[in-house]
Amino acid sequence: MEQQLQLNDHNKQEHPPMHTAEHILNQTMVRMFGCERSKNTHIEKKKSKCDYYLSASPSEEQMAEVERKVNEVIGMHLPVTAEFVDKDHVPEEIDLSKLPENVSQTLRIVRIGSYDTCACIGRHVANTAEIGIFKIISYDMENQRLRIRFKLLQE
Ligand SMILES: [Zn+2]
Repeated sequence: MEQQLQLNDHNKQEHPPMHTAEHILNQTMVRMFGCERSKNTHIEKKKSKCDYYLSASPSEEQMAEVERKVNEVIGMHLPVTAEFVDKDHVPEEIDLSKLPENVSQTLRIVRIGSYDTCACIGRHVANTAEIGIFKIISYDMENQRLRIRFKLLQE
């Protein structure tokens, strides 16, 4: 019964494995292209999409590398943890640009091992082992906006 309630609840919010994969994809894009984390995302259980702003279109090899890197991080079975910090004492590596101006004084910081850290109130898996296999369905570039569509395959 409890399990069922939890599943229903998940369906109303962002799917935790997908949303956690979004964090890893964001960090991978930031590291590879020096872009910002996606501000325009659409996360669903079956497929999701994230937009990034890049100066040049990535090559097929680079996109294959994005997919490979995200799966490498997932495969490290990293713990996903959350902690609360005061807004005035946020660790330097955290990008606050996505947060609204009127954000609360206490922030929830979510870490994926030592790979990614960001402020987020969403729902995440406890370990990247729960995500499955990250698969890029397609991507396209339009006016410097790269849109990546992806899904998760269960192992
Ligand atoms: Zn999150």
